[in-house]
Amino acid sequence: MKFLIMGPPGAGKGSQAARIKNHLDITSISTGQMFRDAYKAGDPIGIKAMTYIEDGNLVDDKTTNNIVWQRLTSDEQLENFILDGYPRTVNQAKALDDMLDKLDTKLDGVLNILISEDVLFERMEQRRVCKDCGATYHLTFKPPIKEGVCDVCGGALYQRQDDKHESVKNRLEIYKNKTKPLLDYYDKKGILYNINGMQSFENVHEDIMLVLEDL
Ligand code: ADP
Ligand code: ADP
Ligand code: ZN
Repeated sequence: MKFLIMGPPGAGKGSQAARIKNHLDITSISTGQMFRDAYKAGDPIGIKAMTYIEDGNLVDDKTTNNIVWQRLTSDEQLENFILDGYPRTVNQAKALDDMLDKLDTKLDGVLNILISEDVLFERMEQRRVCKDCGATYHLTFKPPIKEGVCDVCGGALYQRQDDKHESVKNRLEIYKNKTKPLLDYYDKKGILYNINGMQSFENVHEDIMLVLEDL
């Protein structure tokens, strides 16, 4: 099974991808997390990408398409994957179609998580991320057991620079202008599934699993 999880920043893409991974034998690929990991490792690609990311801008298509292609073809070819946060532009969507053609496969579906703007700002404000393993928390709805410390690995939690209010505003504008048009692109292919993201973690997960069972 190969599918995308889409939605504005804060919709719950990463949280839901992590839950799906616990239920199905599937690899989750987050381009945002790949850039953050590359930055942490001191990789030049990550250092360059972070200059865009901190202000809430998109990393250029060429760099982004390249890291996805490398990931899709690393080790053995991936049979099952969720792409979280990619594609984000029409050019990336076309590049992804070309990559999948080359691998003689295609997407089974696109999950689109819907949330309102108020909820989105509140979620980014309260999101905290583990600097070591990337696990995500929410100060109110998913607090860590011990304040400031990751439940999974004991790493320190921090607020992403791009989760500050000004960056979020910019990311939302970019989402509307560059990423939202993709919904139409996938709807025309007949593979778009909308999910109400303004429910508990568990209920969103259940709605997603219902869609995946039918793919
Ligand atoms: P995205 O990957 O789409 O940016 P995340 O999965 O990181 O979104 O979620 C954004 C923030 O909102 C995180 O702090 C997460 O813990 C929280 N969150 C995600 N889904 C829900 C939900 N259904 N209810 C409450 N909080 C949520
Ligand atoms: P969120 O889920 O909160 O929207 P991500 O972790 O997916 O955030 O992405 C963080 C940042 O990484 C984006 O704002 C952007 O700067 C960069 N990024 C991630 N994926 C892409 C992509 N497909 N194209 C360009 N930039 C990307
Ligand atoms: Zn951790």
